[in-house]
Amino acid sequence: MTEQAAAAATPATPAAAPEGILRRQSLRESAARTYARSLPIVPVRARGLTIEGADGRRYLDCLSGAGTLALGHNHPVVLEAIRTVLDSGAPLQVLDLATPVKDAFTTELFASLPPGLAADARIQFCGPAGTDAVEAALKLVHTATGRTGLLAFTGGYHGMTAGALAASGGARESRVTRLPYPQDYRCPFGVGGSEGAALAARWTENLLDDPKGGIPEPAGMILEAVQGEGGVLPAPDDWLRRMREITEARGIPLIADEVQTGVGRTGTFWGVDHAGIVPDVMVLSKAIGGSLPLAVLVYRSGLDVWEPGAHAGTFRGNQLAMAAGAATLAFVRQNRLAERAAALGERMLAALHGLAAAHPCIGDVRGRGLMIGLELVDPDSAEHTASPALAAAVRQECLDRGLIVELGGRHSAVVRLLPPLTLTDEQAVAVLDRLADAVAAAARTRHP
Ligand code: PMP
Repeated sequence: MTEQAAAAATPATPAAAPEGILRRQSLRESAARTYARSLPIVPVRARGLTIEGADGRRYLDCLSGAGTLALGHNHPVVLEAIRTVLDSGAPLQVLDLATPVKDAFTTELFASLPPGLAADARIQFCGPAGTDAVEAALKLVHTATGRTGLLAFTGGYHGMTAGALAASGGARESRVTRLPYPQDYRCPFGVGGSEGAALAARWTENLLDDPKGGIPEPAGMILEAVQGEGGVLPAPDDWLRRMREITEARGIPLIADEVQTGVGRTGTFWGVDHAGIVPDVMVLSKAIGGSLPLAVLVYRSGLDVWEPGAHAGTFRGNQLAMAAGAATLAFVRQNRLAERAAALGERMLAALHGLAAAHPCIGDVRGRGLMIGLELVDPDSAEHTASPALAAAVRQECLDRGLIVELGGRHSAVVRLLPPLTLTDEQAVAVLDRLADAVAAAARTRHP
């Protein structure tokens, strides 16, 4: 009997051996599976920062569902919110109808938005993933402006559906004008710092105003306040303000993709709050659903030119996600978790700078709030050549020590930390200890 036939013949039991589950997964699931390749874990229980595998091993989870879990796994307020909906007998499938749960979610979300947007905002509930909301945002600005071009940035990541993928840094797409995203460590202008960011802004402005610039008329500009998948690159506040001024002056809607940076992650409630700018459109997902799938678009009312039904979809009313999301948003706000993320993130960055001083293979340490990255480089190269192999080795050494981290960045050489905002000081120390051991072990193995 083949492995697949054996699995079909045997009813699934919760106590099934993890090796068998993993083997069957690799046989049955798509070759495109991602996290499952580097994290051969079969999670069966989780609480806060900790995941327990079917083999009884425990892990500190600094991936947090790719940044979804602002409050960690199974936070009591999230569980309570979900149970309350279930026990109330409320319908779980309601398309886009009004419900008390949705009303409460929208009220809580609007209370957290930049006031300049909340005062005159519309909300569109989309399909449940971040990429669905990005897609809706692009369609909205195309509809509102009648233009078809898009301004997007090198290294950006917006999702995997056609429009979102085209807007992302890896794509070659004729309607997208790719602009330089500022970065210190690998500054495209070779200067870094505020000077590099000013040059990036100048390039953008000059291109938009050049009658022979050859760019398609932009319907909007999409950006992340901190590029996550692009390698944890925080945009300087001045540069973000320049992007706001440049787009506003030219009637180009500014779309802030806050899918990963939202809900306190970067040390303010939204990533754009650092610079104090008010975008025309905000794309929200991940943490707003309190660990369940939810995505929305919030935009200023002037852009609300949809015809009725212009953007529909069956799954736009996830009641459990709205309840879990409202509870999460309220908990983050009431417990000032954004400020906590800012303070703890700064201390963690300081500790990691110390680690980098001891390990020449850590080329750069950067981040904002609890969105942190370490870029691994070949210590022998004068050019700081990115080292994806070393980064993968660090990730594996972390896993061996019970710490889950992921990789990101242009070259997959950035080790990323996205712990829950509820991380305690003691847990932060444990994470840093394991990471330091893992870096030392990976560096020893590769450069004995
Ligand atoms: N935008 C950003 C900034 C993201 O980080 C992601 C996911 N990592 C997405 C969009 C896409 O979200 P999803 O994977 O839920 O489609």
